[in-house]
Amino acid sequence: MNLRRIFVGNLITNCYLMEFSDRIVLVDPGDMPEKLLRACGDLPISDILLTHGHLDHTGAIGDLCDRFDCRVWMHEADKEFLNDDTLRAPASPAEPWWRHDLKVTNFIQDGDEILLGEGDEQILLRVIHTPGHTPGSVCFHMEEQGILFSGDTLFKGAEGRTDFPGGDHAAIKESLQKLSTLPLPTSVYPGHGFGTNIGAEDWIRGKRA
Ligand SMILES: [Zn+2]
Repeated sequence: MNLRRIFVGNLITNCYLMEFSDRIVLVDPGDMPEKLLRACGDLPISDILLTHGHLDHTGAIGDLCDRFDCRVWMHEADKEFLNDDTLRAPASPAEPWWRHDLKVTNFIQDGDEILLGEGDEQILLRVIHTPGHTPGSVCFHMEEQGILFSGDTLFKGAEGRTDFPGGDHAAIKESLQKLSTLPLPTSVYPGHGFGTNIGAEDWIRGKRA
């Protein structure tokens, strides 16, 4: 599996593209569906993983699902976010281009395991429910590869905002504590900005109030 980062949208969201020999898996396709389709080349998108329901992480799924019959995974606690503008994009007014027919095919919960790819290429990814930024925020952990997609829960040197509707500061503290128990070399791929690793983010081990 080859992992690439593609910047999308005004908020410069990190969309991650996992390229298998016969398919593509996307994490947080927030915008620019045409750019993402170009990056996919001839390969079909089999799965879309959403770390949470905000527009800058989900905006392209309508267009991508028009093209491919793919599975879309998101935590059920963010269900309301997809089609409620005040929840999904609290910082900006509704724009005419926003689609309101976004659909999740597979609602996930803490501890769920998702199998991606087939045969020798198959990858197991575990869902870690990390509420706080939104009620249904999750991180996706690929233990064998030592990779964590942390969405807007954990950034390099910072935690996600909790001042949007559904945000909960005490909850994100607890979520970060949970992430702090992962192996220290685990590479962290956040929803915005630079990557990091669990060992470098020592402040998440209960030190910052
Ligand atoms: Zn967000």
